[in-house]
Amino acid sequence: MPARRSTVTELREAIAAIPDPEVPVVTIEDLGILRDVAADEDTGHVVVTITPTYSGCPAMAAISDYVAYIAARHGWQARIDTVLEPAWTTDWLSEKGREALRRFGIAPPRRREGGVAVPLGRHTVACPRCGSTDTEELAHFGSTACKAMRRCRVCREPFDEFKEL
Ligand SMILES: [Zn+2]
Repeated sequence: MPARRSTVTELREAIAAIPDPEVPVVTIEDLGILRDVAADEDTGHVVVTITPTYSGCPAMAAISDYVAYIAARHGWQARIDTVLEPAWTTDWLSEKGREALRRFGIAPPRRREGGVAVPLGRHTVACPRCGSTDTEELAHFGSTACKAMRRCRVCREPFDEFKEL
């Protein structure tokens, strides 16, 4: 199957564009999961470094498989390194990723101030549809462990919140 080997730039772009299995509107690069792509043009080997998000999200195996598949399609042999330190935080989510979540109807996680997380359930979350901050948490674990389910008291629509970490 492997075709001619693509350039490092093409390989990097293809890996960066891999969607997150849990939230396919954002890429692994937007999420900050993708840390490094180190390709060796002499050997055709590439080492891809990723940092997992929430421990409750069983998406990392799927992401590793996807990275290896995309690399192979570009003619590269990939090794996936998982790095746990420094630990991923929602602060690594790019502005592009936050905007994609909002458009998709998911409230993006708040940025923490001075690295201090706001106590659970005490933060304000804006409704991704109407922007009102008059919202309430319905369930701390929504469709996946990374999301809480909330409802807007103004437009009455339920929505997912991408939890802050
Ligand atoms: Zn609303």
